[in-house]
Amino acid sequence: MGLLGDLWKGLKVTGGEMIRTITGKRMLTKQYPYEFRDKPQRFHGRHVLNRYPDGMEKCIGCELCAGACPARCIYVRGADNPPDDPVSPGERYGFVYEINFLRCIFCALCVEACPTEAITMTHLFEFSFTNRDDAIFTKEELLMRPDGTVPHMFPDDPFANFEELQVADGWVRATAPSGYAEYEGVQMWQGTPGPGDWSPEPSQDERDA
Ligand code: SF4
Ligand code: SF4
Repeated sequence: MGLLGDLWKGLKVTGGEMIRTITGKRMLTKQYPYEFRDKPQRFHGRHVLNRYPDGMEKCIGCELCAGACPARCIYVRGADNPPDDPVSPGERYGFVYEINFLRCIFCALCVEACPTEAITMTHLFEFSFTNRDDAIFTKEELLMRPDGTVPHMFPDDPFANFEELQVADGWVRATAPSGYAEYEGVQMWQGTPGPGDWSPEPSQDERDA
């Protein structure tokens, strides 16, 4: 095909997309922040440190997440649990926990590495920092509240998507379709006391249908 043919082919694609967009058949953009796009179930948003239903922290301060992080943006310091007032089950808990979100690449390797499912990712993606210190989230921002809600960066923001926040609980790690067949349709774990309650992932057949 010659140059004119290629040009005509390109214009046809562009024109077709324009018509589909104008007629509303193909709307790629939303009026953010008034409207939010639906996110995939495994969307990697900001992290949350989870609790057990009894309120105890899941993090045991083992530092495996920090070791797995390719961006070296997690800092954990464990400490012995006070015998009379333990913070987590077992001997140790995460005394200091920080994530530098200027370096995080949202790969979720920390989630995979965690033996207690303490750290998971949410659907919250809105970040805004005016200095580097604010980009380092500490336990204050990361640890879910005892009622299971997730601290939001902008609690006073009129545009904050609080509906989404209500289900911003920890993500259910890979469920059956990518794992053992006998667990298909079974919610593998969540166990957090939060309001977010994800359904099991659809099977491959359901997805294809
Ligand atoms: S998502 Fe990836 S880069 Fe971000 S803290 Fe976890 S392991 Fe590190
Ligand atoms: S979040 Fe998980 S992997 Fe990281 S220190 Fe806590 S228990 Fe260990």
